[in-house]
Amino acid sequence: MKTVCKKCLRREMAEAYKNMIEKYKPAIKAADRAPEACYESRLSVCKACRYLNQGICGACGCYVELRAAAEHAACPYQKW
Ligand code: SF4
Repeated sequence: MKTVCKKCLRREMAEAYKNMIEKYKPAIKAADRAPEACYESRLSVCKACRYLNQGICGACGCYVELRAAAEHAACPYQKW
């Protein structure tokens, strides 16, 4: 049986999970997307956060890779 790392982002998981994030990202208009450096910085904070569980924020239930992609989104605990 395979185990899943709780600290993995969806993009670090199997293709099916990775593709799900890429499928929904275009729903965020280009003008509303966070710059790439900001996006990666946010995700590195999430990776070190105790609320991250298999790409989902345990504080709000969102997929962190989608929340972090929206420029004006914020962490529910003000970590970014
Ligand atoms: S959005 Fe905030 S609370 Fe949620 S996993 Fe990321 S850093 Fe943690």
